[in-house]
Amino acid sequence: MKFIADAMLGRLARWLRALGFDVLYHRGISDGQLLKISREQERTILTRDTLFLKRKGVDGIFIRHDDVFEQLAQLRDTLDFREAASVGRCMICNGLLDPAPCREEVRESVPDFVYLTSREFARCRDCGRVYWEGSHQRKMREKIETVFPGRRGPLFAREEDTGK
Ligand SMILES: [Zn+2]
Repeated sequence: MKFIADAMLGRLARWLRALGFDVLYHRGISDGQLLKISREQERTILTRDTLFLKRKGVDGIFIRHDDVFEQLAQLRDTLDFREAASVGRCMICNGLLDPAPCREEVRESVPDFVYLTSREFARCRDCGRVYWEGSHQRKMREKIETVFPGRRGPLFAREEDTGK
């Protein structure tokens, strides 16, 4: 189960990645590119464009809501968490995260206070971005819990990535 999101769904794409799903997203992707990549890579299209799927005669999921948590709720029955990466994916580039590289290795990549106060880190295999357990994590977990009861929330995200 792999996805490709249209240009209007950047925030949804980031949250799905944090939950471990494989979601391609390119700001400003054209309809043509969206279609081409979805066919080549067998990715399900996620779109906010009511007419796009009809016009192109393709299968995909029309996302009905503007709010990202309502969007996630809409996908509740579609998402198969057995296929999600266990640690999560990079919210920025969709790469798989490696859990807990040793602390010394990430020292240069994180602010001092984070290094001193965080116990767990993860690093993107593709772009090298380092993630850590932070105070906003609890908030994210609570939100995820309201959409997916009993589901452990995203392990690693960075506060600045969860906004618009
Ligand atoms: Zn990355």
